[in-house]
Amino acid sequence: MIHIIGGGLAGCEAAWQAAELGVDVVIHEMRPVRPTAVHQTDGLAELVCSNSFRADKTDNAVGLIKEEMRRLGSLVMRAADATRVPAGAALAVDRHAFSREVTAAVTAHPRIRLSREEVTAVPTPASGWSPVIIATGPLTSDALSADIQRMVGEEHLAFYDAISPIVLAESIDMSKVFRASRWDRSVWQGAQGAQGAQGAQGAQGAQGAQGAQGAQGVQGAEGDYLNCPMTRDEYDAFYAALTSAESATVHDFDKAKFFEGCLPIEVMAHRGEGTLRFGPMKPVGLTDPRTGRTPYAVVQLRQDTLAGDHFSLVGFQTQIKWGDQARVLRMIPGLEQAEFVRFGMVHRNTYICGPKVLLPTWQTRARADLFFAGQVSGVEGYVESAASGLVAGRNAAALAKGEAPQAPPRTTAIGALAHYVSHADPKNYQPTNITHGIMPPLDNPPRDKMKKKLLIAERALADLDRWMGTAVEATL
Ligand SMILES: Cc1cc2nc3c(=O)[nH]c(=O)nc-3n(C[C@H](O)[C@H](O)[C@H](O)COP(=O)(O)OP(=O)(O)OC[C@H]3O[C@@H](n4cnc5c(N)ncnc54)[C@H](O)[C@@H]3O)c2cc1C
Repeated sequence: MIHIIGGGLAGCEAAWQAAELGVDVVIHEMRPVRPTAVHQTDGLAELVCSNSFRADKTDNAVGLIKEEMRRLGSLVMRAADATRVPAGAALAVDRHAFSREVTAAVTAHPRIRLSREEVTAVPTPASGWSPVIIATGPLTSDALSADIQRMVGEEHLAFYDAISPIVLAESIDMSKVFRASRWDRSVWQGAQGAQGAQGAQGAQGAQGAQGAQGAQGVQGAEGDYLNCPMTRDEYDAFYAALTSAESATVHDFDKAKFFEGCLPIEVMAHRGEGTLRFGPMKPVGLTDPRTGRTPYAVVQLRQDTLAGDHFSLVGFQTQIKWGDQARVLRMIPGLEQAEFVRFGMVHRNTYICGPKVLLPTWQTRARADLFFAGQVSGVEGYVESAASGLVAGRNAAALAKGEAPQAPPRTTAIGALAHYVSHADPKNYQPTNITHGIMPPLDNPPRDKMKKKLLIAERALADLDRWMGTAVEATL
């Protein structure tokens, strides 16, 4: 019997995989007995923020990992495909239907039992729970976090992520902003452009960006962003207001660790007067058509919904208190009357230092029958969390049946993620989304970038199919 702690994306996928391999599973999910600060329902696999699973084509690493998961019988992918909504080249879902679909499949499975309770300590071998998968996510409850920290020591890290505000399109003063992409490059001019846009955002911003690209591309040549230009005086006044605004009190803030690419705007501002002009407010490559000149500073707004009714402030993740946030952000030209659909905020993200703690099978190095999966294991994102649960579930099932756990080939996206989590540099370890950057290069890569990506996908899927064949044989 496998015990899985946490009924999120990773926990449900792990349970499904193990149950389908013929092993009994109990999922211990604390909601609704104990809520988290972010989840709003008692449904399993609730998506806490964006409804996007990002790109869905195999020339993109996250599209590739999805295809691999489909081939491995993923429940999360099945539910996502069944509840998808239009989102261009991305896979986005109706979040409520998605959670209902996963909950129904899990609770109807004859080998899965759901127990609604908080688990407050890492189960010891003496508890009789073996194997165990800890899949409690970025908002792992305090008691369990403390015990995980005791178990893994210094390597267990807690830090905070910050997300950008979103404004209602109709509340933007269009007479003050101009539509343009930096250097006139549209996201549709090739994959590079899209990656550039993401690189500027940090983790959460990147996730939002992908979902929105479909809509922006349709609008094409005018440029993908709304740009709010600032004069020097406007920038100085904004800077003064930003650096004196009241920040939300974050428990343990002094010890908080942010992704460098996802720093709160006010943290960046405090580094120096010019930091923002070389970061999210950099004006280079943008010409205001009304003056014919490059503004002193620019705030970029990116379309956030297909309908184009919401725009997010690019790179403006923040922890400023909401009242002050509205006041300061309304100093941006064009946003004087802005209505906020979502304020920027800070959220907790708890994860272990994978390379110190884990093997590529998602087992812990210290205890073969103990696994971590999902965001708490040191991956980033819905899809990556589910993918890690998929491997952990299969391997926990293998252990329960007396077989050897296996890591997927490194040339697959799912195997590359497993390798990163267990082999990246443990110093300043940061969770990652799946990218081509963590996959091994081709032996003889073609010059054409698209061909290269397609060949990486071809190699991955061929290796996965071979591995699945041998994995099945190994269980016979
Ligand atoms: C505010 C926020 C916004 C995010 N936005 C995005 C986004 O837009 N896109 C994206 O791809 N990723 C996003 N993420 C990151 C991450 O991908 C998701 O959090 C994802 O849901 C992780 O999946 P998981 O299965 O690891 O954790 P979860 O889906 O959070 O599942 C963990 C489950 O464990 C339960 N649990 C916790 N502690 C215990 C305990 N002690 N005992 C029993 N049960 C417990 C929780 O109730 C929860 O149901 C976001 C994270 C946060 C916190």
